[in-house]
Amino acid sequence: MTIDTDSTLALFGGPKSIDRVFTRYNPIGAEEVAAARGVVESGVLSQFIGDWDPDFFGGPKVQEFERKCAAYFGVKHAITVNSWTSGLIAAVGAAGIEPGDEVIVPPFTMCASATAILHWNAIPVFADIEPETFCLDPKSVEANITPYTKAIMAVDIFGHPADTDALMAIAERHDLKVITDTAQAPGAVYRNKFAGTRTHIGGFSLNYHKHIHTGEGGILVTDDDVLADKLRLIRNHAEAVVAGMGVTDLTNMIGYNFRLGEIECAIGIEQLDKLERLVARRQAVAALLGQELAGLEGLRLPMVKEGCTHSYYVYSLVIDPDTLGISRARLVEALSAEGVTGLASGYQNVHLLPMYQQKQAYGSRGFPWNSELCRRDVSYAKGICPVAEDLHDRTYLGFAMCLHDLTDEDVRAIGSAFRKVWCNLAALK
Ligand SMILES: *Cc1c(COP(=O)(O)O)cnc(C)c1O
Repeated sequence: MTIDTDSTLALFGGPKSIDRVFTRYNPIGAEEVAAARGVVESGVLSQFIGDWDPDFFGGPKVQEFERKCAAYFGVKHAITVNSWTSGLIAAVGAAGIEPGDEVIVPPFTMCASATAILHWNAIPVFADIEPETFCLDPKSVEANITPYTKAIMAVDIFGHPADTDALMAIAERHDLKVITDTAQAPGAVYRNKFAGTRTHIGGFSLNYHKHIHTGEGGILVTDDDVLADKLRLIRNHAEAVVAGMGVTDLTNMIGYNFRLGEIECAIGIEQLDKLERLVARRQAVAALLGQELAGLEGLRLPMVKEGCTHSYYVYSLVIDPDTLGISRARLVEALSAEGVTGLASGYQNVHLLPMYQQKQAYGSRGFPWNSELCRRDVSYAKGICPVAEDLHDRTYLGFAMCLHDLTDEDVRAIGSAFRKVWCNLAALK
């Protein structure tokens, strides 16, 4: 049933535009069930050993999944980890970041991108983002470089690749490492290569709300043999392995148990097979949604930069409250009443989290910022990232495509809901 866009808003007691419940996104099917069953029946749920031994590299499914990921993403090494948060920690450690070093990161990201830096007692420095792609703005990165900067952490946020060529050019001039957090953009392309594969280290999350998943998990990718060894060591008790492996550079050779299990990797193999199709479906849904929402005044649809594809973890909208004459909160109230679920007002301003505002991470006295290792007073004040802050506070409206398996009919219903609200903006003032 299509609701007349002229009818009374559901917020004011009119009929709801969307009278269906969207299907929960679930890419797990019979293939994953069979794969997991095979592992359980084999009795080998993990085969890692934290020692210099053939099993240092994990069991058969871990190694098969890693080979397949490396081939799919076109990289020399793919290394599985038990979460992408673990992957980010391993990446910062392998990059040789030392206590007190500065790493530039956007604030418009999931908190773990920045926490991974702090984990090594290094100092996150927040640079602003581009208003169109929400990814690190190379100009702001350049402006935030100091003699203490050692790396850049780019984030392919919402499914759009960061401008990694520009970031790599900056990195080359200043001798920095670049890590990419591609948790939200597996399968997106930047200049003929997959997002996440063009910097020193990249990688993907396999948690249950990402495009493909193994419940929890992550994949690190790199073309660098030395970095790959370090990543594997940090994943698996480095300190107990270095001597046997003949490693003499002990920089950050503090190891963890970041190992992913055989069941997850068996499921991951099936998920990887589905990635292309799942991303293509997201792109088709986004294209249809784009047609539905085209021409609504004061609403900017996600843009895709030339040479890039978008994998749409989130369908990112930007509103102009001045043109609309109403606040974002009022708009969301009206859209939600029409039955649009999965809307998010703003995203993150990580620099404004209490940990950064109060500069308290390890212990209670302000470490690492209060130590002599931190060589300048890094600001986390509101105002340091005006683009990210304005998006978060006022104009950014995310639609979490990752939550639902949307049919074309669902997308059309969402379109009518938006158009109906836009026809009734005056009533919302
Ligand atoms: C999901 C996500 C992470 C963390 O991944 P986990 O696998 O949940 O640890 C990190 N960064 C970004 C941008 C994410 O979206």
